[in-house]
Amino acid sequence: MSERQLLVAANWKMHKTVADAEGFLGDFLPRIGDDVAAEVVICPPFLALRTAAEHCLRSRVRVAAQNMHFEAEGAFTGEVSARMLREAGVDGVLLGHSERRGHFGETDEALRLKVPAALNARLQPILCVGETEEQRDGGETEAVLSRQLEADLADVADAELAEMVVAYEPIWAIGTGRTASPDQAEDAIGHLRRLVRKRDAEAAERIRIIYGGSVSPENASELLGREEIDGALVGGASLDQASFAEIVMAAS
Ligand code: PEP
Repeated sequence: MSERQLLVAANWKMHKTVADAEGFLGDFLPRIGDDVAAEVVICPPFLALRTAAEHCLRSRVRVAAQNMHFEAEGAFTGEVSARMLREAGVDGVLLGHSERRGHFGETDEALRLKVPAALNARLQPILCVGETEEQRDGGETEAVLSRQLEADLADVADAELAEMVVAYEPIWAIGTGRTASPDQAEDAIGHLRRLVRKRDAEAAERIRIIYGGSVSPENASELLGREEIDGALVGGASLDQASFAEIVMAAS
């Protein structure tokens, strides 16, 4: 058994107002209680971050943002910096989600700046990487993952690698109801861990590499029971408190 604590994160995407977030957490926090074994992270939209952080203050649930800019401040209309997130009570940030890469032009060049900027501000990055269906069918999965991980972590010091979380999120499995099989997820995560090992053997043992893509209460136990899979990033099934609580319990 690995020593790594499982991490289960909810990506709410562009769902839930401040009032919705309050309603969710008012029900969810008592459901999971205080002695849940997994680390739990909620990623609400920007406007609900402060409220969510306040609700989670006396719980063990942490709050993370879904994006940030790499600069501390400046003329970047519509953007939010790490320092602004810290002030809102946030201590982590999703970076490089495939929806940001696909719909909003997020590049590996920008991620190369964002990941160290987050770490410098004491925000834990949850860096998402993953291949398209065509890339998987073409046998390019490992090459794509290598390219993304190497580029996005190029300016992270080896000593800091273990502070991050990497989410393996095959794009063909996100929001589609098609989950990667536990073997597929383990193979890809094993590849990502080998890439980290090439840089630092100790970091490779400590870094959490989680799986995301149509995780549900029905498939969570099987995925989270695998040695290589250190947790889950959950989209659709995290919007309902009962279903997300079931996934958290499966990780416990
Ligand atoms: C995600 O958006 O990160 C995700 C994994 O979504 P879903 O669980 O809905 O596939």
